[in-house]
Amino acid sequence: MKLLAYCPHCDKIFQSTFIGDMSPGTTVKECNEKCPRCGEMAQTSNYISNTMYIAGQAFHTTSDAETLKNLLQILQDGQKHNQDIDQIADKIQILSDKVDYKFDDLAECIRQGKKENKAEIVWAFIKNLIPLLLSIIKNLGS
Ligand SMILES: [Zn+2]
Repeated sequence: MKLLAYCPHCDKIFQSTFIGDMSPGTTVKECNEKCPRCGEMAQTSNYISNTMYIAGQAFHTTSDAETLKNLLQILQDGQKHNQDIDQIADKIQILSDKVDYKFDDLAECIRQGKKENKAEIVWAFIKNLIPLLLSIIKNLGS
């Protein structure tokens, strides 16, 4: 699987040319790659690869548009009001408990990112997740 890279200069998350295992718990070497948006150097991120992988799993098993709308609302509110990351994770956890623990791992990943002092990457992840959710919801609706 192509590893995801995070650009700290413009907050873009993109597929790098580097191949690696994205499943949780694996550690990959951080590789540098030019950001396709701003041309600055970005780095492959284990955290972002794992988190996106988990998000992908959650969305693969969740076909309930209403649930995804609730998740979207939590992320958008969090971003709009610049909420604490733990607070956002708590809300995702509560939503997860209501829908068969589908977003358990997602809440945990967000908490983990904060613990590892990767708050800016967590925010970039949230920022990138919002348009992804919007497109999934749109597709479910049609
Ligand atoms: Zn960039």
